[in-house]
Amino acid sequence: MYCINCGVKLADTEKACPLCGVVVFHPELHQGEGERLFPANQAPAPQVNSRAIQIVLTTAFLMAALITALCDLQINKTVTWCGYVIGALLVGYVMLVLPLWLRRPNPVVFVPCSFAAIGGYLLYINLASGGSWFLSFAFPVVGFIALVVTAVVALLRYLRRGRLYIFGGAAVALGAFMPLMEYLMCFTFEPLRFAGWSWYPLIALVLLGIMLIFLALCRPARETMERKFFL
Ligand SMILES: [Zn+2]
Repeated sequence: MYCINCGVKLADTEKACPLCGVVVFHPELHQGEGERLFPANQAPAPQVNSRAIQIVLTTAFLMAALITALCDLQINKTVTWCGYVIGALLVGYVMLVLPLWLRRPNPVVFVPCSFAAIGGYLLYINLASGGSWFLSFAFPVVGFIALVVTAVVALLRYLRRGRLYIFGGAAVALGAFMPLMEYLMCFTFEPLRFAGWSWYPLIALVLLGIMLIFLALCRPARETMERKFFL
């Protein structure tokens, strides 16, 4: 046996290298209870200047919005397409940069904020384009997906176990929502008829959910899957 640090030959009973002091791990010898195999990692955590990144990103978003607005006003003398671009920039900002402003971003807070931004953007598109699909289609669909995703994120964060039940339940809930979504679509966009395509994602998602819940309940099956997918 040789020291991994300095290469000196070691006796089998050696617990630390006599030359450089590195802890020796001998795989065939029994390691005592509570004994560390490796020394604790004492490398300092890399310092990222997040405040500077936030300021740069915020400036970039503001500049992009300003340039878009100026171009639109210069060409069309009124707000036409720049509203859509600025709306999309705002959604991107809320989703990507806003969490950076918090010291410890809590996904249970910023996930609903992101969905609220998406909903607001869709409402703007609806109003600006003179449509009437927001209340009967976009709002319930985005709202339901927001609820499911927020519930998953909150449960994952606060339960810290039962992930398979959580994902299984979410898959079943999304699947069950599919026919309602198709109905809302047909109700909102008149010439569309209820064709029943929603049954396919419904069946697929419910089967996926049942499989995940089955894996959660059946330990041997779960262990086989974990080995198969190197989890
Ligand atoms: Zn050594």
